[in-house]
Amino acid sequence: MTLEEQDKQYVLQTYARDYTNFVRGVGSTLYDDKGKEYIDFASGIGVNSIGHGNEKLSNAICEQAKNIIHISNLQVIEPQVKLAQKIVELSGYDMGIFFANSGAEANEGAIKIARKYGETTFDKKRYKVITLEHSFHGRTITTVKATGQESFHTPNFAPYPDGFSYEKSIAEVYQAIDDETVAVLIELVQGEGGVQPFEKEEIQKLAIHLKNKDILLIVDEVQTGVYRTGEFLASNLYEIEPDIVTLAKGLGGGVPIGAVMTKHKEVLHAGDHGSTFGGNYLSTVAGLAVLDVLKPMYDAGSIEETILYFSKKLKKIATTYENIFEKEVGLGLMRGLRAKSAALQGDIIKKSMDEGLVVLKAGRNTVRFLPSITISKNEIDEGFKRFEKAIASL
Ligand SMILES: *Cc1c(COP(=O)(O)O)cnc(C)c1O
Repeated sequence: MTLEEQDKQYVLQTYARDYTNFVRGVGSTLYDDKGKEYIDFASGIGVNSIGHGNEKLSNAICEQAKNIIHISNLQVIEPQVKLAQKIVELSGYDMGIFFANSGAEANEGAIKIARKYGETTFDKKRYKVITLEHSFHGRTITTVKATGQESFHTPNFAPYPDGFSYEKSIAEVYQAIDDETVAVLIELVQGEGGVQPFEKEEIQKLAIHLKNKDILLIVDEVQTGVYRTGEFLASNLYEIEPDIVTLAKGLGGGVPIGAVMTKHKEVLHAGDHGSTFGGNYLSTVAGLAVLDVLKPMYDAGSIEETILYFSKKLKKIATTYENIFEKEVGLGLMRGLRAKSAALQGDIIKKSMDEGLVVLKAGRNTVRFLPSITISKNEIDEGFKRFEKAIASL
């Protein structure tokens, strides 16, 4: 049996995957089982924040794996405490953290905190959560319901939890608020929905309005967090102070980890929430190693430099190929090119793979770029060379 046949027989077919078999990775370069080389502009959907084969990360994981990988949360876990402190310090917010294992779980935690806050703070219970159209918040029953895309709420998985509604724009959030609204949950740059950033002023105005109404602002930074937009959090870039922030993708450099952080540290008590694996030795040691790599790069200005270099290249592509792309979108190292059609989007991604470049799709017609934060100039140059070849071959 080929690997493809085995996959089809033994793995549930929930992904429309291609059968490129990557067997080796160095930095932002990948090799498949035939020895073909690829530049990685996808980083495992924003997960491999410090690339492949990073020595600091792999050494930290190996050393930890040879000792304790996991002890339950019934005892204190030193690297978990250290990672929590580090994240809080880097964020600049006075918050406490709960560790989970994925983005969806982090958002579940956020919704639980909000619901309990709404139950215990007001005379009349507040429980409704407003999210935005084209948002993406995860694949559990609750986070799929929080996701503002009708196609995700298929009757297949019904019934869904109550209390979620979706607005077309930030401007429409205001009139959607009622006396049962407990929180607004947003991505500052919608990732899966099409790499669409919101306006800073618009978000700041909303944050003030919500604060005045004692409604929680939950920022889903599962994709935007951990320097993806150039600052540690996109919330830092937008200069807001959310009530709750969720993290996941880039935090563990590939080791599963999720986190929900909140300034309402008093809401959850012992027994209110938990996770068997969440915040274990392995994942939090990985998180610490990732931040040990990225923080000095941020301080030295090299993340900003990479962002400028990457976006200059991307803008050039957008203007050179106006027949193919509507415009360039995104922020930091979370970028996209809006193709003129959904068909073009698919063709470009496929041709790019043929040329040895991994890119992603987002929304209906966006080609998405989520390179590792540590990608080198050479890899960026080579990646765009291949991207232009892919476009030329359309
Ligand atoms: C990827 C993503 C999620 C879901 O994360 P999982 O780890 O797949 O559960 C949630 N929110 C946003 C913004 C994401 O990009």
